[in-house]
Amino acid sequence: MSPKYADIIINISHEAIDRTFQYIIPESLEGQIRIGMSVSIPFGAGNHLRKGYVTGLSNEPKIEVGKLKEIAAISEKGIAIESSLIELAAFIREQYGSTMINALKTVMPIKEKVRGLTKKEIRLLIRDEEVDERRASYEKKHAKAKLRLLSELAEDKVIPYNLVTGKLNVSSQTISAMVKEGAIAVEEEGYYRNVFSREKGILPGMGSNVRREIPNEEQQAAIDRVLEDYRADNYGTYLLRGITGSGKTLVYIEIIDEILKLGKQAIVLIPEIALTYQTVKRFRQRFGERVTIMNSRLSKGERYDQFEKAKKGDVSVIIGPRSALFAPFPDLGLIVIDEEHETTYKSDYPPKYHAREVAIKRAQMCGASVILGSATPSVESNYWALRGEYRLLELTRRANENARLAEVSVVDLREELKLGNRSMFSNHLKSQIADRLGRKEQVMLFLNRRGYAGFVSCRSCGHVLKCPHCDVSLTVHYPKTSRERLQCHYCGYETKRPAKCPECSSDKLASFGVGTEQVEAKIKEMFPEARVLRMDMDTTKKKGAHERILDAFANGQADILVGTQMIVKGHDFPGVTLVGAVVADTTLFENDYRASEKTFDLLTQAAGRAGRGELKGEVVIQTYQPDHYCIQAASLQDYDKFYEDEKAYRSLLSYPPFCHMMAVFIESPEEELTSKVSDGLYAESKAAEGIDGADYKTEEADKSEKPDRPVQLIGPCEASIYKLIDQYRKVIYLKHKDMGRLIKIKDCLERYLEAHEEYDKARVTFDFDPMKSY
Ligand code: ADP
Ligand code: ZN
Ligand code: ZN
Repeated sequence: MSPKYADIIINISHEAIDRTFQYIIPESLEGQIRIGMSVSIPFGAGNHLRKGYVTGLSNEPKIEVGKLKEIAAISEKGIAIESSLIELAAFIREQYGSTMINALKTVMPIKEKVRGLTKKEIRLLIRDEEVDERRASYEKKHAKAKLRLLSELAEDKVIPYNLVTGKLNVSSQTISAMVKEGAIAVEEEGYYRNVFSREKGILPGMGSNVRREIPNEEQQAAIDRVLEDYRADNYGTYLLRGITGSGKTLVYIEIIDEILKLGKQAIVLIPEIALTYQTVKRFRQRFGERVTIMNSRLSKGERYDQFEKAKKGDVSVIIGPRSALFAPFPDLGLIVIDEEHETTYKSDYPPKYHAREVAIKRAQMCGASVILGSATPSVESNYWALRGEYRLLELTRRANENARLAEVSVVDLREELKLGNRSMFSNHLKSQIADRLGRKEQVMLFLNRRGYAGFVSCRSCGHVLKCPHCDVSLTVHYPKTSRERLQCHYCGYETKRPAKCPECSSDKLASFGVGTEQVEAKIKEMFPEARVLRMDMDTTKKKGAHERILDAFANGQADILVGTQMIVKGHDFPGVTLVGAVVADTTLFENDYRASEKTFDLLTQAAGRAGRGELKGEVVIQTYQPDHYCIQAASLQDYDKFYEDEKAYRSLLSYPPFCHMMAVFIESPEEELTSKVSDGLYAESKAAEGIDGADYKTEEADKSEKPDRPVQLIGPCEASIYKLIDQYRKVIYLKHKDMGRLIKIKDCLERYLEAHEEYDKARVTFDFDPMKSY
């Protein structure tokens, strides 16, 4: 049975996105209406025909049927790109679970209604004393529209173009006529807010005289492969596996260059943290003003402008984080996802979509190719590439022939303890640092915790000081100074350090665990002559602080950079010849099936930082688990070895890519409610389990292996941080080979929640193949 009702959205480019209207699908159009389609509908009291887009289909009326109007016709004039983005939103809604409104908001940029931030403006050019004269002349000619605009401008001088053509109902012809008369000017300055002025020094056309890099053999082979397929209309997904420094960016640039020549456009996704001056500059050098960027520092309005430019064809390449994926290019030819293994490609809030999966869907819809690039591909992507679902391209050498791979050594911290070294620096790391300082070379030291010490505990009773709002120990900052405080890293709660244990009143409170502050302090103690910079969330809160620290270090104003993993990713410092992982295994202890992958990536990226220039680099990994396969593989810088071990582990325990997972995450301010909703959802999942997932086509489902195995249900269990910011949190995990089966259960759970109003205070989110632990 084809659906009887359609949800229609009339205005899709601003706040009105919250409002859809239901219409009846008339018999004459039965079976023809699809999501994304543009239709004309009678609207408002006068039933004037207006254009809208179908965002949903159903068999149930939301209000009395008598009050619903019928769709008038399928409109030919819909904008193809908007239709396909709505279709993409429907895919996201279906795949990841959320409301259609949230899915639409994900794909459509929301325009801010802030005056002065609007794009084109109209400015009055004639002086005040001439206004009356001009008015009289318009009156004589019965030029009503001109009169309206003039009166408005006499008051305001500058008004947004939209307002003039919209509310004032003045046509663009009238505006042109008044421009010719010299009465007004249309100003586009500030229209596309100039985002590059903020990225210091990146000017249009800059560097056009810079010598072009010529791709080496390996790079050329990768470029040729993609372009040959492309010219044969053989689109697909490529995994570009290239070691750090192998020149993946040049491969992207050369391919994009060709794609633009074919009249198509390209989207380049980069993890926010790697979206640096250096990267953007290389694209600007080749593509000049045809490339624009997006990042989280742009205002909503600025982001909207970049999308408008994309739609109008004023730019052909957009570089940005996850959300740039939805740039409304009319003829998209290529999507690049650089550092595809990064967890930031997964949205943190619903719909929790993965940019890789949505990119592949979007590319399939419009006939484009996708390139995933990484030195350490996600286990999933490598798996699909080895199985032939993705096309594998490899770069095995560093592009700069003089740059050699760093040497990696592993230090067993347990052995150091046995030798009586209780400091956080092994003798080896200490002597290496001294050596580099002597040679005036630079050092980077990182560890995964900011602050001074990880927790404070009582030596008498063992009590650990915790945040009153979260199930988390408090971190010590700036001990024994006027800035001393204990802080919760999850909610920001701060307190003074108590003199006595709140449990047993003993005064034997001691701090444990090392953070970046302590590393910095100890380094300064050991090497008083060294210039040290620290980069972590505490030192980069202020706008521009990030860049200032990186610039200072790049310019040689410091010898040692201490920081969290934010210093490791994506930066290029030719002067660095030593990178130290102070405690490499902190990430390994996380209760997360991706812990090994994250640790391996981080250590490999770190190794990639050492010796980018002419000098050979060394990496020192300090760890308590030197035998762990991920530390072993990292020390050999052997991705394939890591992959084989990790694959075995995931396959054994049924983790992605061998199985799909759905996390159902429940949180509420009331402990009892959290439990009640969790139990309800668990029971409902069990009941839903009987349903058949056969009508869902998934390429992922490996039909050869017992497709009818039941769904595995785990939970409900307390989240690893049970109480966070005064919310009680539980999670249920479901696992099955067939994603469609999990999606069906999600649909059931969504209906179940809709039917239980008493659960409204609890928030339930779905996360497919989660990238983090709950
Ligand atoms: P990746 O992203 O693979 O780690 P990059 O794209 O950052 O590597 O390239 C590493 C360095 O090599 C950059 O400084 C880049 O300018 C340089 N490079 C890349 N390809 C070539 C080439 N074919 N000839 C000369 N230099 C190159
Ligand atoms: Zn105590
Ligand atoms: Zn807290």
